[in-house]
Amino acid sequence: MLLKSIFLFATKSHLKTKFKCNATNRNISTIGFIGLGAMGSHMAKNMIKKFKKVSVYDINETASLNLGKEGAIVAKQVDDLIDSDCIISMIATNEQVLHTYQSPGGLISKVRPGTLLIDCSTVDPQVPQQLSKDAQLNNVIFVDAPVSGGVLAAASGQLTFMVGGSVEGATRCEPVLRCMGKNVIHCGPSGSGQVAKICNNLLLGISMIATAESMNLGIRLGLDPKLLASVINSSTGRCWSSDTYNPVPGVLEGVPSSNNYQGGFLSRLIVKDLMIAQSIAKRAEASTSLGDQALAIYKKVCEQGKADLDFSVVYKFIQGLKDK
Ligand code: NAD
Repeated sequence: MLLKSIFLFATKSHLKTKFKCNATNRNISTIGFIGLGAMGSHMAKNMIKKFKKVSVYDINETASLNLGKEGAIVAKQVDDLIDSDCIISMIATNEQVLHTYQSPGGLISKVRPGTLLIDCSTVDPQVPQQLSKDAQLNNVIFVDAPVSGGVLAAASGQLTFMVGGSVEGATRCEPVLRCMGKNVIHCGPSGSGQVAKICNNLLLGISMIATAESMNLGIRLGLDPKLLASVINSSTGRCWSSDTYNPVPGVLEGVPSSNNYQGGFLSRLIVKDLMIAQSIAKRAEASTSLGDQALAIYKKVCEQGKADLDFSVVYKFIQGLKDK
């Protein structure tokens, strides 16, 4: 019922992209950016190109100092960001997001009234639902705006943002998000950006395993990996995992599989997202049996010591399975 109403709202309030990257006309001139990992470091760099004052904070000081070299103001603690007109976060888990924002200790109770808070991390939809209520009580705006596109799209400013929040929140955050992405889609009220993101990553997690299985089978039967990929990519099996992020080393340049699976979207993060998918599916009484199997496979990948490698390393895991 809840999801049904979220999607009805999404259909009605879906905002077509209206704004270019120009947030100053919406009284936003100073930015605080939290979380400078694989994604956040690129996103913050794109903000530095557009705004004169971008302050950055990461619990990993080296990550902050690297952005300092790009022109950001390096914050020593998260509270140094509280005077920013808009604060964006790209951290990882439910706990990290709640810890950062939730009152009384978090940013929501410390920033000025009217401050725009945008969380781009992928978390359980219940997290932004809880935080937006907290924000309302404190007279600030909180939106969830998880992203799709991966590290390459983060670097090139081509991300897709899935926004959950009030129409006012979505309208205010759009010109800011346009500085880092090409698509900004208002999915509905708070949490619905996360619902859309988790549905996408449920499909992504499954399709990466399917691509890895299919590539492994063809290669084992003697096909050249590049040739097999080009056949799939001009046939009905084509998907993002096969044509943009192929898991077989050497098929594509500039992707993690061709760089020993370094960087990218870590296996532990797809496990996080598939766990969220299973938990929201349970709440919605929706069947996600392939998601359940995919989660079990990525958990095994992590147990093999590959938690901090890109999730396309599932290809290596499947390559090692001989019996089926
Ligand atoms: P990451 O682990 O590379 O980066 C997270 C960063 O946040 C780290 O630098 C960490 O030190 C920092 N951090 C953690 N807690 C913090 C805190 N309390 N305060 C300040 N900094 C803190 O992760 P990532 O790959 O950049 O992903 C970030 C989020 O985006 C995750 O929720 C992930 O699921 C999602 N996402 C990732 C990708 C991808 O391709 N990597 C794509 C889409 C969405």
